Amino acid sequence: MSICRRQILKGACGSAALSFLGGASVCQTVSTVSDVEKALQKPVLDLSQIKSSVIIDSVELLKKDGEYFVRVRSKDGAEGISVSNGRAPVFHPIFNQLVAPFFIGKDARKIETLLFDLYRHRSNYKLQGLAFWCAQAWVEFAILDMLGRIANKSMGELFGPIIRKEVPFYVASGRRDTTPQQEVEYLKGLIEETDAKAIKFRIGGRMSRNEDALPGRTEKLIPLVRAKLGDTIAIHADSNSSYDPPHAIEVGRILEDIGAVYFEEPCPFDHLEETKEVTDALTIPVAGGEQEFSERRFQWMIENRGVDIVQPDLHYYGGMIRSARVAQMAAVAGMPTTVHISGGFGFIYMLHFASFTPDIGQYQEYKREIEVYRDWFNPGLKIHDGKLIVPEGPGVGIRDVAGVLKGAELVN
Ligand SMILES: [Mg+2]
Repeated sequence: MSICRRQILKGACGSAALSFLGGASVCQTVSTVSDVEKALQKPVLDLSQIKSSVIIDSVELLKKDGEYFVRVRSKDGAEGISVSNGRAPVFHPIFNQLVAPFFIGKDARKIETLLFDLYRHRSNYKLQGLAFWCAQAWVEFAILDMLGRIANKSMGELFGPIIRKEVPFYVASGRRDTTPQQEVEYLKGLIEETDAKAIKFRIGGRMSRNEDALPGRTEKLIPLVRAKLGDTIAIHADSNSSYDPPHAIEVGRILEDIGAVYFEEPCPFDHLEETKEVTDALTIPVAGGEQEFSERRFQWMIENRGVDIVQPDLHYYGGMIRSARVAQMAAVAGMPTTVHISGGFGFIYMLHFASFTPDIGQYQEYKREIEVYRDWFNPGLKIHDGKLIVPEGPGVGIRDVAGVLKGAELVN
């Protein structure tokens, strides 16, 4: 019921909301909760094209130039790699002791169901959280890369038909050390550099119990950005868990006044009820979920409209498969899934996720990493008219795996 009402209020009419348009009684009888649960259970991958088993022979963590990679090899000589999100220097014992060994001898085609077995393996569920899910994501990305190379399909195609090859992005400022005037100048520079049609900037003080980064910065910055950057730029703001609901609603009203696209993480990220209070009060969408690690808590957020846009992080939340399940649940409620990105290379996984996910919202995050990875791909990575182009080629699309890994050392 609440899903229908929220969709009408915010104008995000999905199929459940359209049912509601037929009359209030329809909305009340739609079993949205069980539909969300069903969406969670539905498989996300289609690997039927790979007829023979793909037995995993090795899973290795490698390091080169400060970047950590996972390389998976099958007994038949197939290979796939992933690029970690920079947490590997701390999390690598979890990866090497509790995650990598589990996959040896397993059929990679069963990855979707293997993830639950991994969760139970050696009581890994007791570690549920970023440290465990990141390690899972690294091996999952590598396995999907390998399966894509075997099937001659991109990572995205393993999940479903490719529905977009260009992904509109916002360029993100990560700063809070600026005055409002300095931040506007900084944002102008980011737009010039990237040709972005959308931006995101930080407000509040970051996990700060209502304290601002500088006194009065947020209230001045929001209208100043609109005034100086013009009416056509799409604006996103992220408070990184800064506020209690009354303060978040006040700031949200300022964002409503300037027509922001969304307000990200208004309240402490794990306080779902407080976040919902803000979501209920505001007319602009509230986005959240970048630190969320629990499938059932995402389910709660979707069933109860705790946010308007869900943001699983492809690394922090354990990979593409779990994130695709969130998107399937969100689709039932007519909610977009705009994944959060961690790690320099993370935007590549975002592009593949966006290639097959029907509702990704308006803009995806970009933090200006294209130059670092441009030549790993063929054709090289590029931006066109405020959009990133999804990499071509099988798997993740890295054209020369051996070249990228040349000189890499094993991390034990
Ligand atoms: Mg954020």
